[in-house]
Amino acid sequence: MRIAVLSERDSAEPRVAAVPETVKKYKALGADVVVQAGAGSRAGIPDGEYEAAGATIAQSAEDAARDADLVLRVRRPADEELPLLKRGAVVIAIMDPYGNEAALKGMADAGVSAFSMELMPRITRAQVMDVLSSQANLAGYRAVVDGASEYGRAMPMMMTAAGTVPAARVFVMGVGVAGLQAIATARRMGAVVTATDVRPATKEQVESLGAKFVAVEDEEFKQAETSGGYAKEMSADYQKKQAELVKGHIAKQDIVITTALIPGRPAPKLVSEEMVASMKPGSVLVDLAVERGGNVVGAKPGEVVVTDKGVKIVGHLNVPGRLAATASSLYARNLYAFIETLVDKESKALAIKWDDELVKATNLTRDGSVVHASFQPKTE
Ligand code: NAD
Repeated sequence: MRIAVLSERDSAEPRVAAVPETVKKYKALGADVVVQAGAGSRAGIPDGEYEAAGATIAQSAEDAARDADLVLRVRRPADEELPLLKRGAVVIAIMDPYGNEAALKGMADAGVSAFSMELMPRITRAQVMDVLSSQANLAGYRAVVDGASEYGRAMPMMMTAAGTVPAARVFVMGVGVAGLQAIATARRMGAVVTATDVRPATKEQVESLGAKFVAVEDEEFKQAETSGGYAKEMSADYQKKQAELVKGHIAKQDIVITTALIPGRPAPKLVSEEMVASMKPGSVLVDLAVERGGNVVGAKPGEVVVTDKGVKIVGHLNVPGRLAATASSLYARNLYAFIETLVDKESKALAIKWDDELVKATNLTRDGSVVHASFQPKTE
């Protein structure tokens, strides 16, 4: 079994799909590991460290991918890379399949078996493979660090000889994996933290982290969680009540971190232009949902917008990539945990159980076709 770790072609992607620790584990599974030269450089991992872990370095993607049975990437291979891959090769990445049906067809036509890590079911057995959680956790942490660095004041209360500095007020909107880590991080930095979500289960989680929960707790709120643990899209009436409550609260905040998402829908708009304008000059909003349309009106993907009143709206893209070393290391472990289940320990070869629920949930293409039920070509 030959495993290839390819460099990311997208300049916005500094993460890498394997780290020396996981290379050693793949070697222990009986694999030969080939790493494309420079693959880890933007995550702070020189080629020599991969070599020391037992990998061979290939100078080009072509050399790395040649004869590889398993190809590891952070992002989906570009169309022009597909001819480099062996027919029948297994390619595992964060494939971003929604709305990218043409790219899926490209992978099917190239004869590769593509697996999308972000489709991994969120069940206990697969927690160790959950890339959405591993990366969202880091994004939540980094959002607070970015917010604090844009904020021109200190985070904790400080009693100094020159007088007392008040603690920053941080408001976290959306308390999933990223939001919980944002709360914990802001608390560790000494801020006074409040948070809101539409799922009732989050109230206890927020309070257990020492933050205060702020929400419209009506009948609709009590029913707002799907059986899968996600948020429902709320009614116009609820959104109005929520906006009223948030309006008064947000004007008193120094840093607002928004993380609210609804599966399969654009991100809900939670912070209006008027709310942004109500904030004090120098205050900061960090919109982690910017890639999905944004929670904050005025947020721009990839930019830090400064309003006329001096409020900053931070819209960094690929926030986990802003912690490329840590994000790569967790992503690489998620990948290894999944791949271990695809290998037969005796024969040391790939032995994919195509009816396994993790395989079925993540496998997009196989034997020349798009096989995933959610991405079947539309028949009109
Ligand atoms: P997500 O990224 O889909 O959404 C982020 C948060 O935004 C959610 O908490 C959601 O309720 C909230 N939100 C949506 N609309 C909102 C609105 N109008 N106002 C305020 N908040 C709004 O969520 P996620 O981080 O993927 O987590 C979703 C759930 O999955 C959580 O319950 C999480 O604990 C759970 N989870 C379970 C596992 C597992 O393995 N069992 C793993 C990860 C996450």
